[in-house]
Amino acid sequence: MKVDDCIFCKLANGEIPTATLYEDEDFRVILDANPASKGHALIIPKEHYANLYELDDELAGKAMILAKKMVTKLTEVLGCDGYNLVQNNGECAGQTVFHFHLHMIPRYKDDGVGLGWKLNTLTDEDREDILSKV
Ligand code: AMP
Ligand code: ZN
Repeated sequence: MKVDDCIFCKLANGEIPTATLYEDEDFRVILDANPASKGHALIIPKEHYANLYELDDELAGKAMILAKKMVTKLTEVLGCDGYNLVQNNGECAGQTVFHFHLHMIPRYKDDGVGLGWKLNTLTDEDREDILSKV
């Protein structure tokens, strides 16, 4: 399914030109317009899924295999020192475009890219609560 007013449906399907690194029948891989670092790219399925919860199982597997291939090749091309894969679901998690996408963010030593969080300690209460429900 494609959604008329979805920018990523249009980008993924070539209706709006964009800097494409790779394309196959399921995905387009593009450079992010607001990169966190040089080479920041997005894996975008051609079909519309709002987020990971909705994503087709087979495509979810294919997206991770594609990420592995892209990151391997791009590490060589960009000469970066590491990679973060980031995938946001929901506004509170930082999702701004509601068509599933997987960020591939190259990391360079001392690049100052901020993807960190404060490390808390797992409480007994939280551990028991979660383990009893899952
Ligand atoms: P998220 O916050 O996880 O939903 O990520 C959305 C990403 O899409 C951001 O990193 C934006 O910079 C990127 N983005 C939005 N519009 C475009 C566009 N037209 N071309 C390329 N990247 C885009
Ligand atoms: Zn879409």
